Formats: sequence, C-alpha cells, structure tokens
Amino acid sequence: MSAVTPVSLPLLGAHVSIAGGVQRAFERGIQIGAAALQIFLKNASQWKAKPYDEETVREFKKNWKESGIRFVAAHDSYLINLGAPDSLILGKSVEALRDELERAEQLGIPCLVIHPGSHVGSGESAGIERIANSLKTLLVQTAGFRVQICLEVTAGQGTNLGYRLEHLQQIIDRVIAPERIGVCIDTCHLFAAGYDFRSPETYRETFQQVRTLLGGDRVKVFHANDSLKGLGSRVDRHAHIGQGQLGLEAFRLLLQDRSFCSVPKILETPKDDLGTEDRMNLAVLRGLL
Ligand code: ZN
Ligand code: MN
Ligand code: MN
Repeated sequence: MSAVTPVSLPLLGAHVSIAGGVQRAFERGIQIGAAALQIFLKNASQWKAKPYDEETVREFKKNWKESGIRFVAAHDSYLINLGAPDSLILGKSVEALRDELERAEQLGIPCLVIHPGSHVGSGESAGIERIANSLKTLLVQTAGFRVQICLEVTAGQGTNLGYRLEHLQQIIDRVIAPERIGVCIDTCHLFAAGYDFRSPETYRETFQQVRTLLGGDRVKVFHANDSLKGLGSRVDRHAHIGQGQLGLEAFRLLLQDRSFCSVPKILETPKDDLGTEDRMNLAVLRGLL
C-alpha cells in the first residue's frame, strides 16, 4: 500500500458495502476490479455501533493485504454535523466522529472523508466557526493518530457548508494541526456547487483555485461521480460517468491531469449488488486514460 504507484496503474475504485462486516469489503472490491475502495466504518444511519472485535480487525487487515487493493478510505456517518447549533447534537457529533477516527485508526485506514457540516439556519460564519472548533477538539483527542480527516466539497444543499472552496480554506486555517486535514473533491458536488471543469479552460481555472486556496497536495481523494443536475444547481444527485451534466470530457481532463495521477478516484454512482454498474463505470474511466 505504501509502494509508489506507477502511472500505468491508476487508483480507481468504488464505495462498497460492508454488509456482513467491514472485513467483507474486499471481496466486493475484487469483484469489480477496484484498486481503491471506500467504506463506511459502521451503519451510516445510526449514532452508535458495537466496537470491532479483535477477529474483525485481524481479518480486515489480512483480507486487505491479500486483495491487492492499494487504498482504502472511510466515509463518516450521515448523522454527524460538526456545525450543529444545538449543543446536544454537536456533542453527539463530536463523540461519534471520535469513535469513527478510532475505528479508522484500528483498521489502518489513512483517510476519513467527512462532510464539513450544516449551519442549520445559524449562519455560515457561525457554522464554519463551530466546525473548526469541533475539529480542534477532535485533533486534540486523537493526537498521534495517523488517519487524516478529509473535508469533502459539498453540493451546498440546504444549509450544508463546504460548497465554496473558501469554506474549506477557512476551516483548515483555523485548526491547530492542518497536516492532519486533507480534502476530498467530489466531482458531482464541485460542479453542482457552481465550479465548471468541462472544458480545458474551465478545468484549468477551477483547479487553479483548488491549488491556490487549498494547495494541490491537500487533495487526498476524489469522488468520481457525474451529476444529474446542472452547474450551480446545488442539488446533490450522482449519475453514471458520462451520463450526467458533467459528461466524459470533464472526467478525461481529470484522469489525464498528471498532478492528480496518484490521487485515488472513487465511484459513488448508483449500483446494484452484483457490481455490474461499478464495473461499467470503472471501464469508462479506464477508457479515458
Ligand atoms: Zn460524501
Ligand atoms: Mn462524495
Ligand atoms: Mn453526494
């Protein structure tokens, strides 16, 4: 996993189910021919779950090694809101994310993707302040952990923050250990948020902003999703690669961008149990290289 990734072997993969336990993710990754995976660490719509037993952790690591899969990211649960104005929900969210960071660390996962949070009517700057403070607390509580927290660009639905690159920049600027914070760029979210990258000119302009505001090295993972809705719609609906409003050219530009060639690109597109659609989308992405 730490081996240098040759350019000829792009880190393409998908989010896969952990039904039956986290250790079962790898058989699904192999089934679709993935080199990179994303998983939830537990049921993503519940606050709490039993800790992993030793057996699960051992099997996870063994299966990972045997799978040949080179990168695994985790995604946080949907309930967590680090920007919540309600102190009860905020406290629960920090506690739940700390649990997820511990799980990721136990499994040796290098990157936990999180949605920055929602201000729920309390205003954007108050929301950003709370998110930064929550992260400060978590970074202190998990000092020495190797797992990085990767803030995901959002589509900006409702009161979700993170739909401007400046939001992420402001959060990162405020934390005490910025080296423990990365960024996840979801192509569907970025486009729905209003950033175009469907032509060489717009691609260059958008990713120049990424480099200027966040730093190119800050980008640890991409979510490769086409967008059902249009530029600036602020609606988060994923489509199969090449079948949405982004189209193939945007993905061609991304896959051929040498500055991101070693950054994993993970599908979160609609999928069936057999992996047919993931295999199809991965084949489309590979065809663009
Ligand atoms: Zn996400
Ligand atoms: Mn995503
Ligand atoms: Mn989404």
